[in-house]
Amino acid sequence: MKIIIAKTAGFCMGVRRAVEMALDSPGKHRGPIFTHGPLIHNPQVLDLLDEKGVHIIQSIPEAGEGTVLIRAHGVPPAVKKDLKKAGFAVIDATCPRVIKVQAIIKKHARQGYASIIIGDRDHPEVAGLMGFAADRGYIAGSLEELEALPDFDKAILVAQTTLNIRLFEAVKNWAQARHPHYKCFDTICDSTAQRQAEVQKMAEMVDALIVVGGKNSGNTQRLAEIAGQSGIATYHIETESDLDVKALSLAETIGITAGASTPNWIINRVVRAVERLPYKNSAGIQKIVFSIQQALLLTNVFVAAGAGCLSYACAVLMGDSDFLPHVWISMLYVLSMHTLNNLTGLKADRYNDPEREAFYRGHKRFLICLALFSGAAGLLIAYSQGITTFLVLLMMSILGLSYNIKLIPKTLFIGKYSRIRDISGSKTILIAVAWGVVTSVLPAISAGNPFGLKTTLVFFWATGLAFARTAFFDILDMQGDRIVGKETIPILLGEKKSIQMLKAVLGIWVVLFIFSSMIGIIPALGFGLSICPAAMLALISMHENGFMLPGIRLEFLVESHFFLAGMMTLIYTVVFQ
Ligand code: SF4
Repeated sequence: MKIIIAKTAGFCMGVRRAVEMALDSPGKHRGPIFTHGPLIHNPQVLDLLDEKGVHIIQSIPEAGEGTVLIRAHGVPPAVKKDLKKAGFAVIDATCPRVIKVQAIIKKHARQGYASIIIGDRDHPEVAGLMGFAADRGYIAGSLEELEALPDFDKAILVAQTTLNIRLFEAVKNWAQARHPHYKCFDTICDSTAQRQAEVQKMAEMVDALIVVGGKNSGNTQRLAEIAGQSGIATYHIETESDLDVKALSLAETIGITAGASTPNWIINRVVRAVERLPYKNSAGIQKIVFSIQQALLLTNVFVAAGAGCLSYACAVLMGDSDFLPHVWISMLYVLSMHTLNNLTGLKADRYNDPEREAFYRGHKRFLICLALFSGAAGLLIAYSQGITTFLVLLMMSILGLSYNIKLIPKTLFIGKYSRIRDISGSKTILIAVAWGVVTSVLPAISAGNPFGLKTTLVFFWATGLAFARTAFFDILDMQGDRIVGKETIPILLGEKKSIQMLKAVLGIWVVLFIFSSMIGIIPALGFGLSICPAAMLALISMHENGFMLPGIRLEFLVESHFFLAGMMTLIYTVVFQ
């Protein structure tokens, strides 16, 4: 089964901005925090906001306290005034693109124009726009309703930002033919236009199309409408539990798109559920392979084996022939730390990876034992390699264990920093450095050469690869991390800049490794190992361009880069040594 995900699926700029403003409000603005009406049309996001202490008020009380957020759709100016009069502080999360439409209507209303809004009269955005039209506002939901309106000497036509583009095209043609003096403003948001155009295109390439989003979300309904008009089987679902497993199992190619108010974590859950469809009722070899992949990833055995491969590559690069103890140390340390990390990151996994969350909750005791046992075994092997190796690994293990623990008492800590995890972006950097140290510095310490140029170069190479891996997963988990308040590097920099940074890091390593091999700082193996950052770079670009979906296969491929390093090293040692 082939799955295609729409590049435009998920939060648009306006919705993302409004949700982030709402998530940031508790603790930042005067409480209690409310939204005026539902912030967006997605029940799962609304439940989440409610849990975070952001509640909905449907009507304005005579007197109130706290802060009210105006939703992305905007409100009539009178509502804002009434909220302030009632005693609320008001935060305006109206989408800047909706504000632009409001400004067009306001300006023309002052000049005596009638404002005809093409849209859904029950939609809050349209209700808000009407408030700017003075008493000369009209709503038309179809060409028939438009024709039924009186003729105006001066009128403007604007569209609800999520209107069907075909309808507005017809409206423009109608106006040109019947009322050429009407001024038409195409106020359909780019995001809506692109989303609808993409769904039309996708409908030609797939057997079935899944549209994910709130049942009462106008723009999601329109996507389902457009897909349905093209004649393919269309399923409008809110979550993965609504999937029609029987019908979808028969499709060879499935398209997935989502409305502007659907968060990534819900789309990811749907993708993971669709990914599993072919294996649900089958007992074939594919199901076995998929289940093995899943088990290896969930237990961190795959990532630990990857660390072992990286350690092997680093040892051969540094000319260390006694690599086996360090391969084991790397594997056991990474297994221990990643398992503990998953055990303490269950809150974020609830959104990012619900399967992982369920697995860790269901096997908590076993996984704690596994983490402690592998950590202890790693330390034991490190001890056999010398006291310095042991102490460095012990220090790193303590650092890893204390990552989530409050180290500085409340009375003493300055600002919000009481745990290591409170330092923004610390997780990504610490994981990368830890990988770099166990895979390259520890073998160099045992070999008695921890500070040479070769060791430094290999350390930064291993750290760079681990950094790219971790930061890339952080990019995939951005929305879930944001919800639970984690400040990863992608959250600080934004998705686009983070991807650019990763591409730059990986690109530099491709060039640097080839160059270092050419001038003899590292052996010729460096030529072969430059393929690893190059392959990772290609994978990130494929994901960026929508060719690689988040899910088990992508995770598996990312982790496979370390196996690629191990394989290249094995070939090199067999052929050249
Ligand atoms: S669809 Fe466009 S106008 Fe509407 S909230 Fe999103 S970005 Fe703003």
